[in-house]
Amino acid sequence: MLNNDQPICKDCGTLFASNDNGSRCPNCGSASKVILAQLTIQLRIYMRWRMLGKRFGKRVFELISGHELFRKENRMVQKGRLVDKENDWYEEIIIDPKTGDVIHETKEKLSNHYGHGSAKPKQQENSND
Ligand SMILES: [Zn+2]
Repeated sequence: MLNNDQPICKDCGTLFASNDNGSRCPNCGSASKVILAQLTIQLRIYMRWRMLGKRFGKRVFELISGHELFRKENRMVQKGRLVDKENDWYEEIIIDPKTGDVIHETKEKLSNHYGHGSAKPKQQENSND
């Protein structure tokens, strides 16, 4: 069996201290818990869409939006990403779906993001998506 049966709060995503019956979320007090492994599967089929813009058969931008598990805080977040090759622009935004607060935001030149055209060797980012 997977060792993934740690329950988390269905409402706010906080890890429960125990899997006992009647245990409550240490954060919001909710009694609805869900097993993380199940939640991960749910998340995969959760809203996630991807849009590709093409002009003259060439891909000019890519927009990805959806929900995913924010591993750092073990809860669900909304994530949007724009890759605009035509305008050399990259944007990434992570939003707390409960409060609408922006958790993380990146806006930069696409060439900066991927480090192309730079004379200096850049540190490689390991994004384990
Ligand atoms: Zn909670």
